[in-house]
Amino acid sequence: MAQLRAVAGDITRRDVDAIVNAANTSLLGGGGVDGAIHRAAGPELLEACRKLHGCATGDAKATAGFRLPAKWVFHAVGPVWHGGGHNEDELLASCYRRCLELAREHAVRSIAFPAISTGVYSFPLERATKIAIQTVRAHIEDSGVERVEFVCFNSDALLVYERLLTAGS
Ligand code: ADP
Repeated sequence: MAQLRAVAGDITRRDVDAIVNAANTSLLGGGGVDGAIHRAAGPELLEACRKLHGCATGDAKATAGFRLPAKWVFHAVGPVWHGGGHNEDELLASCYRRCLELAREHAVRSIAFPAISTGVYSFPLERATKIAIQTVRAHIEDSGVERVEFVCFNSDALLVYERLLTAGS
């Protein structure tokens, strides 16, 4: 049975096979977790991303992790929150599903996710967390992943993840 847990801190420091980036459609870098991952991975990451020619919202693409402890970075593009009536829930779920598909393709056993779309993209935290946990639970067994970390950058997110993971939602 795969293990899902919430951890506090910086995703770039996680010792896992793959970390997930909350990227934008250009894949050419941005602020927030995207900026932190590019800084920690080094300039080779941007070069690798250029070759991917962008990524659609709800999709994810893989690169190497370069100077990161993680071997892989899965660049997922979450939806911008526009009130909830623009397919945001399904697009966010799709990000998590696609990352687990990439995990299977690359034989990834451990993966760390940030709280995709909950920063600059303004997706409500609790709603996003429910989708993250439910989607990962639904697809984890097929993926071959044994350990999932939800990396929380602030204490609010950690509390929400811990509560919802315990609630089994
Ligand atoms: P988005 O544009 O998808 O909303 P952001 O990077 O703005 O992406 O935020 C996504 C989440 O990542 C937010 O919850 C933010 O607090 C968090 N975050 C920012 N930096 C880091 C980091 N170094 N490690 C883990 N999470 C981070």
